[in-house]
Order: sequence, then structure tokens, then C-alpha cells
Amino acid sequence: MRIKKCKVCGFPYRLARSLVWNDNGTITSKHRPDFRTLIIEADYLTEIFKKIEEVLGVSIQHIVFEAQRNAAKDVINGNISRFRWAIRYVPGVRRMVIAYFNRMASWTGQAYAKTIPHQGEGAGAAIIRNPFNRDLMAAVVVGALESLDEKPYDYRWERRGEDDVIVVESGAHPDISERLAYNTAPPKPGDRRYQRCPGCGVPVLLKDMEWRENEGLMIDMKRGVRMVVLEIYTTSVVLRELARELGEDVFPVIVAAQRQFSLPHIRGEFFRGEDNSSVFDKEVFYREVLDSVALRGQGNPVMCDTDDGRLVIIVDNPFDEYVLAGHFSALYEIAEGKTPQVAWEATGPSTVTYTLTS
Ligand SMILES: [Zn+2]
Repeated sequence: MRIKKCKVCGFPYRLARSLVWNDNGTITSKHRPDFRTLIIEADYLTEIFKKIEEVLGVSIQHIVFEAQRNAAKDVINGNISRFRWAIRYVPGVRRMVIAYFNRMASWTGQAYAKTIPHQGEGAGAAIIRNPFNRDLMAAVVVGALESLDEKPYDYRWERRGEDDVIVVESGAHPDISERLAYNTAPPKPGDRRYQRCPGCGVPVLLKDMEWRENEGLMIDMKRGVRMVVLEIYTTSVVLRELARELGEDVFPVIVAAQRQFSLPHIRGEFFRGEDNSSVFDKEVFYREVLDSVALRGQGNPVMCDTDDGRLVIIVDNPFDEYVLAGHFSALYEIAEGKTPQVAWEATGPSTVTYTLTS
């Protein structure tokens, strides 16, 4: 499978045309301005989930799956609502939409997906290679097919030769799906400006991304890290559900897990003080890391103030307050050499103020 890419910067054309980089730290869908997406290291949720299971000693797989299925279903509902009639009644259209799903998996770096013949009842079967997270990917596939066929499905994994195959069959929803709905506060405006690629309009700062469509991978070549394009809702819905089931104890675990995850990533991408600490400019370091938060649609840091070991960051439109608390803790730790205490509060409907101290 080949995907068509921008000749100037290499960004997949269809993805570039379906997303909008706004001036307020958000990336939204062109067809649904209220629907947010982010770009992030592909493993971040896997690492957070692993840590929660480790520390709290419970499996959270079912919550993760249901939340992602709901979010995926909603994404696809939004994308195909205009073609609903054709999908139902015109022969061949359903197959075309599924081919589009497979491509979308590659564009977003979520996985390589290829539909294969399937005997028996149900929606079908597909080879899945390199899923960014196995449970989340299964949920993406099931949610997309439920949206397409307008009925509930279940799934199982099968090993066929070298490949993992997901088989999607008729099924029913457990009760949990009902309460996993989400809503979003309206975003605050901002005044960020990006230099845009003349070929596709995507910010040129993303020019180092490379797509390996035959593997389903999106790699940030500057540092050799796998990235993924994901709607923002899974994170908040899953974390909210985890708190509901497991209690508030889950939040410090999330923050600590993300801090640990972000440490090597921030250091590898932005820190240039290791060899010669005299050239380390803390202000520049903070600014570059916070600018990347906005570029990736994770929120809009509008103020960063550092004074005597105390760091205050104000973020408009944060995609998730806990994940950013962990990310900023890592930022502080690299700059100040100490693991911080992090506190934060909502200082507006779409604003969070973080205070980090040693
Ligand atoms: Zn381009």
C-alpha cells in the first residue's frame, strides 16, 4: 500500500487535508471543528496503563477497550455521516470505506492493517501489524466497524502464520460503554503562528516525520521515536473511568508514569546542556518544550515563569491535565536536577495553572 505524500515535506496528503493546526494549541478535524486530535509518542498510554496495573495490582484492559471503542466510533461517525446512505445501499461502497480505514491506520501511525477474506458471520477479519497498543487498536477496529455497520460487535485475535489477525464478529456491549461518553470545554483562542509548508499547509516543524506505510509506522526521524496521531478523548475518558473504579489514588500514578516516560523523550529531543552546562539556556529549553506541546495539539502554554526554583506554567486547552502534569514534572526535573512537587488548578473553563517546586 502506498500513501500519497506532500512533495515538499512528506506529510500524507489526506491527513494534511483533514486536520487543521489552530493558533491555540489544538489540532482539529476539518469537517468537525469541535473534534480534537493530538500527535504524541506512540507508547505513552501503554506505559501509563502498565504502571497503573503494576502499582494498583488490577487489570484495566476492559476500561481501556470500551473507552477507545466509543471514541473511535464517534470519530468514524463524524467522518462517514455524509456517506451513510451510500454505505447502506450502494454495492461496493462499504468495501471502499474499509480500504479507507486501512489507509487511515497507516496515516495516523496507529498500525498496518489489511483486510483478508473471512468466512462466517460478522464484519470481517484483518491482519494487524505493529499496533501502537494492542487493546486500543482492537478497540479502534471494532469501533470503526460498529459505526460503519450500525450494530454492536465483538472481536478475537487469531494467529495466522507470522501475523496477528483480528476477527470481528457479532456481539453485544457490556454496560460500561453507556457511561463512557465525553464532552469538551470550548477552546480558548490563541495567537500562535506557524510557518506552513507551501505544499500542504502543515507546520514545517513537522517535516522530520516519516511514514513507513508498509509497517504502519510514523517515525520522528530527528530522534528515531515512533509517534501516533490520536483523538484526544481516549486519554481523558479512560483516566476518568479509572478514577471512578479505582479511586483518586490513580492520579499520582498517572503523573509519575508520564514523568518517567517524558524524561528520556524531552532529554533526547531538547536538552543540549549535558556536555557543556555553560551553554544550557533554561529559558530557551522551557520555551522549546512548551512550543512542541502546542505544535502537537496537546494544549497552549501561554505563560511560563521561573523564579528561584519555582516554575509556573499556564496552559489553555490542555488535552489532559494529568498527562501534562507528568510531562512538566519531567521538564522541571531535567532543568533543575530535582524531581518536583507538582500542583495544579483550573483557573478558567479551559485553563490550568501548574506550579512546580522542589
Ligand atoms: Zn507539505
